[in-house]
Amino acid sequence: MQITKDKVASIHYTLRDNEGTIIDSSDGRDPLHYLHGAGNLIMGMEEGLEGKVKGDKFDLKISPAKGYGEVDSSLIQKVPRTAFGDQEVKSGMQFSTNQGGVITVKEVGLESVTVDANHPLAGVELNFAVEIMEVRNATPEELAHGHVHGPGGHHH
Ligand code: ZN
Repeated sequence: MQITKDKVASIHYTLRDNEGTIIDSSDGRDPLHYLHGAGNLIMGMEEGLEGKVKGDKFDLKISPAKGYGEVDSSLIQKVPRTAFGDQEVKSGMQFSTNQGGVITVKEVGLESVTVDANHPLAGVELNFAVEIMEVRNATPEELAHGHVHGPGGHHH
């Protein structure tokens, strides 16, 4: 069975940047389960997995345009130091926003803090090593919800 729209696939993956540094990996965890064709993965990943079958092992190189986007300089802003209250703020720290995003602290000045609301992987070429563990049909409930259910996949 091939990975096509409305199939559920389980994959093991390792993600590296162009320097070979591991950014993320399912190694030692359950494989990632996802519903194909529902926009649950980045575009380049869905395109690269299309048509693959259980047991396939391959590398996928994904440009920022089909990954987490290019860096948008308008999302890099200075905010008053007071916006963080008494909290310690250091370069490299990350904070969750109310909108579900993440901002990264770039620079800390006396009066202001430069923050970056781009996705941490914006502008990064993604090098995935992928192995297809399983492909199955999605259940009607999964299709209705637009995401995968079952072990490791579902939390309401
Ligand atoms: Zn659901």
